Amino acid sequence: MVNDTLPLPHDMPAPEPAAPMPAAGVPARAFDGRSTRPQAVLLRFEAPTLLVLEASDPSAPARSYPAAQLRVGEAIGAAACPVRLPDGGTLWVDDTALARALRQAAGGVGPVARAIGSWPAVLVAVLLLVALLGWFSHSGAGQMARAALPLVPERVDREIGNRAWASIDGQWLRPSRHTDRCRALAERFDRAAVAFDARNQLPLVLCRRTAEGAGFNAFALPNGQIVLLDGLVEALTDDQLMVVLGHELAHVRERHGMQALLRQMGLLAVAGVALGDFSTIAAASMAGLQGLSYSRDAEREADAGALRFMASAGLPPRLWAEVWQRFAQEEARGGGGLPPWASSHPPTEERQRLVAPGAKP
Ligand SMILES: [Zn+2]
Repeated sequence: MVNDTLPLPHDMPAPEPAAPMPAAGVPARAFDGRSTRPQAVLLRFEAPTLLVLEASDPSAPARSYPAAQLRVGEAIGAAACPVRLPDGGTLWVDDTALARALRQAAGGVGPVARAIGSWPAVLVAVLLLVALLGWFSHSGAGQMARAALPLVPERVDREIGNRAWASIDGQWLRPSRHTDRCRALAERFDRAAVAFDARNQLPLVLCRRTAEGAGFNAFALPNGQIVLLDGLVEALTDDQLMVVLGHELAHVRERHGMQALLRQMGLLAVAGVALGDFSTIAAASMAGLQGLSYSRDAEREADAGALRFMASAGLPPRLWAEVWQRFAQEEARGGGGLPPWASSHPPTEERQRLVAPGAKP
């Protein structure tokens, strides 16, 4: 498991609620909703207005937002609290006192807590939960996750992915030694992914190495970022890496990351989804990312997607066997060693038996 290697935002000590607000502002992380890069900001709440200052240049003009236009998530333990801005951005606020003040000024808490104040809503929620419980025990977590998936807006996937990335990049992950090759590969993959399906929201391909070494693996985050680790980049040709990217692309397109989270979080997640309270999921899912792995069905789906992608990109079918053989060799050597949530490819016999279109069995 990865508890030791994956420092999470809510592991950070929360500032004392009683501490006075520093003159410059309270540090927080901001996502603009377009890029996956967090921005360090300072927050100053001068009721009824929230001022957001650049942490690197607090004297630059601040962005200001009326508190009434903010959507403030619920505080889950010491986890950072998400604050959605009217311009589509999101702030992650660690300071519980500030989060509480903003929540009050924004007109109260999220839809769940509001619903709890209303008896008919509670009754509906209880009936819903009873129905869900029956359905859950009858149909199993996997089917539930698949069924619940369309209820979760894709922005939740992005938010969770952004948050996961912010917590692992620079801590568990280090810059790649193959930046140029990686960039060229990413461009080639972009073109092939668009040709494969023009509706594709382009995944962002990044190369990194791990803090412990090069790392022999690839994984995709729920926000569509695909990460190739240096060990894999060194061991495979560009064509072979395209096969791996095709497999990860399918995980992204099918939202397997979110499916795995829903499966793992089970009923709680469904209740959150049903009641429209996604901030709970975003907060709780960071813990859920640990120990997460795709289901066998998801792997099968990703393999099928990769084979279709290969055919579309004109990649020779022999690459399929080459790639998984390479993974099998590495596993036999005891390589890989990634946490299960990032592990994208149990090189099963079943997978190696799959044959690319046009290849001789
Ligand atoms: Zn996979």
